[in-house]
Amino acid sequence: MFSPAITYRKGAHNQTWAPSLAPSRSSHPIAARPFLLALLAWTALASTASWASAQEPPARVVATVGMIGDVAAELAAGCAEVATLMGPGIDPHLYQATSGDVRDLGRADLILYAGLTLEGQLGEVLARFAERTPTLAVAEAAAGPADRIRTSSAYGVDPHVWMDASLWAGTVPVIADALATVAPACESGVRARATEAEAELLALHAWVAEAVATIPEERRVLVTAHDAFAYYGHAYGIQVAGIQGVSTEAEPSIADIRATARTIADAGVPAVFIETTINPRTIQAVLDAAADLGHVATLGGSLYSDAMGEPGTPEGSYVGMLRANTVAIVTALGGAVPPLPDALRPWAERYGVPMDVAGDTP
Ligand code: ZN
Repeated sequence: MFSPAITYRKGAHNQTWAPSLAPSRSSHPIAARPFLLALLAWTALASTASWASAQEPPARVVATVGMIGDVAAELAAGCAEVATLMGPGIDPHLYQATSGDVRDLGRADLILYAGLTLEGQLGEVLARFAERTPTLAVAEAAAGPADRIRTSSAYGVDPHVWMDASLWAGTVPVIADALATVAPACESGVRARATEAEAELLALHAWVAEAVATIPEERRVLVTAHDAFAYYGHAYGIQVAGIQGVSTEAEPSIADIRATARTIADAGVPAVFIETTINPRTIQAVLDAAADLGHVATLGGSLYSDAMGEPGTPEGSYVGMLRANTVAIVTALGGAVPPLPDALRPWAERYGVPMDVAGDTP
């Protein structure tokens, strides 16, 4: 049921693979004050409720990344306009606001971003808008208690919460509450769709866990270019070896690459993965280093880490993004992908995706 009705700003596709733009390993500016931002956001939300009404044009919602925009568009179902700043292939860690983004943010009735430092350089801009527009860090809110937020000793908090579908399901009530506040006339529809959406994401979560469990235990090692998959690994029981750290702001060192090659050679890992938002040279360097150690691994395919696929395709939805990643990982590492759960049948029918990737059932 996740809607393909996401609009991306024109021109937002320009910024891909630019790992050397900001070589600093320093933490993101927004990191220091997430709670202040959250407070500002809710204060602003509360003050908005009085003037939003059914007579006004649809509320305008601006989301930073597609994973948020997808949930918001599904819940809004046309009752509010949802635009997403960062399209396919865009790296949110490095993204800088365009003049068009600033204009869109300035017109927004509600701004939804992930938080937890994901939108590194956009953070300063978001902080400015949070002073006058309801602005909500949905990944922070969904992760809830701090013990569900993963951290890395080198980089601090890990923002890639959407990789655990049970955590991402937590964004549904958060976004539904925000939509109900800025578009009160839509509230009953939003609430009904939220119930359904949450059930779908929890069914997706159970399916991913079931799929990963089919990989032979010794092969449950996921090697990717940057550390976007720690939530996935924790939730679904697969060891994760990212080469580049949680953010993409620093280039991986030769030592990082050699250490990762040693890990996959020692474990006999058959495949490693590239990411749609990261330069594939890094992962090729790991394959070459592993070959020097006498271990031949292959490319297991391309994973969606920090951006979804093209709008209108299955991978252009959050469910399809996680499904595509899981199919690629499970297949390349020697598991067997189970049929999708019944709760995802409406999603599968909408996109023409088979319930069973093996093709046994329609
Ligand atoms: Zn990332």
